[in-house]
Formats: sequence, structure tokens, C-alpha cells
Amino acid sequence: MLDTFRHKGLRKQLVADIRKKGLIGESVLAAVENVPRHFFLDSSFLEFAYQDKPFPIGSGQTISQPFTVAIQTELLNIERGMRVLEIGTGSGYQACILAELGCKVFTVERQRKLFAKTRDLLLQMPYQVQVFLGDGYKGLPTYAPFDRILITAAAPEVPKALIEQLKPNGVLVIPLGGGDEQDMLRITKDSDNQIKTEKFGAFRFVPMLQNLGND
Ligand code: SAH
Repeated sequence: MLDTFRHKGLRKQLVADIRKKGLIGESVLAAVENVPRHFFLDSSFLEFAYQDKPFPIGSGQTISQPFTVAIQTELLNIERGMRVLEIGTGSGYQACILAELGCKVFTVERQRKLFAKTRDLLLQMPYQVQVFLGDGYKGLPTYAPFDRILITAAAPEVPKALIEQLKPNGVLVIPLGGGDEQDMLRITKDSDNQIKTEKFGAFRFVPMLQNLGND
């Protein structure tokens, strides 16, 4: 896959648009500038890759809007070397943004087709991302605990297993709500395992579903 001057130029423009909103720090903006989002869309849709919009990626799923990826990443307060669990691999774009920031990324997808497609794509990328087929409600107990956990589908409740798999002083970001819109929550576990919750506005995500899917 090619990352041309034109793609790089479109990406700079996208970053300028996101920067104007004033909520995203320079390291996350740099990651958005460095990861070629057009690699994660089917090749016939390249012109949509650098608009600040979500886009269908097959199996009824979407790649999140770039601003949404940026704000979820910002809320995580990432530091290099962290172990990060993502629920909802989708296209793999968000996972690569986290890897670009120096994280060791573990990501779980429930749809078999998307899992296989994205796992194959990520093998061609220079990032440290491990992709798992599984039910995100259960997390990844074998690889726990994690410094950070990011949920990229709308969850009707905060999955208990994920709170358990978070380290003390860990942070979990989740769009919470079963309806059309979700509240973006940041949940912090302190060194005594006490939980604090902060709210950051309304967003729209595809639903987080139970069990594996073949669709
Ligand atoms: N992070 C993705 C966008 C995710 S869209 C990206 O960067 O492209 C939400 C994804 O969550 C979809 O791919 C959907 O299949 C997946 N999903 C939904 N419920 C899930 C569950 N219980 N466990 C794991 N993945 C789930």
C-alpha cells in the first residue's frame, strides 16, 4: 500500500481540523498524522479516509470518526510502554494509533470475518498489535492486568471483568449507554482499587454485542 504526498497532505489537513477543536494534545495529533488511515478502508473508498467522519468497514461495522479516535486516545493519558487492551478491533486503526504512541496493544474483536481481515492487515504493518477473536465483555484474563483499557463499542453497562483486569492507577475509557447516544466515561482505579468516574459528552457508537458473530 502506498502513502503518497497527497495522502500525507490530506492527513495534515485532518490534523489541523482536529487541532482547532482544542481538546487534543500534540502527541495524539502526531499519531493521527503518522498513521495512514486510508490503509484501513477498502481501496475504493480512499477519498473518504481523511474526512472527519465514521465510515462502513463491512460486517455492519464502522471505523470511528477520527475526532472520536483522538478524544478516546487523549482521555487514556497514554505513556510509552503501557499495556493497553482495546475492545472492538474493527478496522485496526485505533489499535495502530495506540501502538504509534508506544503501547503494547492487545485488541479483541467478536466478528470472525473482521477479525481475520484485520489480523491479516496488521501483519503488514510495523506495529506491535496482537489481535484476538473473542467476546470483549470477558476481556483477556490471560494477558491481564492492563495499564489502560479502551472500549470502542457502545456498552449498556461497564463490564465487571474489564474493571478487574485494570491495574491499580489504571484508566478505562468507555462509551456507556444502550440507546442511540452514549456518554463517554473515563473510569480511574486508584492505588487502593477505588473507582472514580468522569463524563466527557455524548457520542454515537455501534453496539457492543454478546458472544461471537459470523455475520
Ligand atoms: N476501534 C475500531 C472501531 C470499532 S467499531 C476501529 O478503529 O476501526 C466497534 C467494533 O466492536 C466492531 O468491529 C464490532 O464488531 C466490535 N464488537 C462489538 N461487540 C463486541 C464484543 N463484545 N467484543 C469484541 N468486539 C465487539
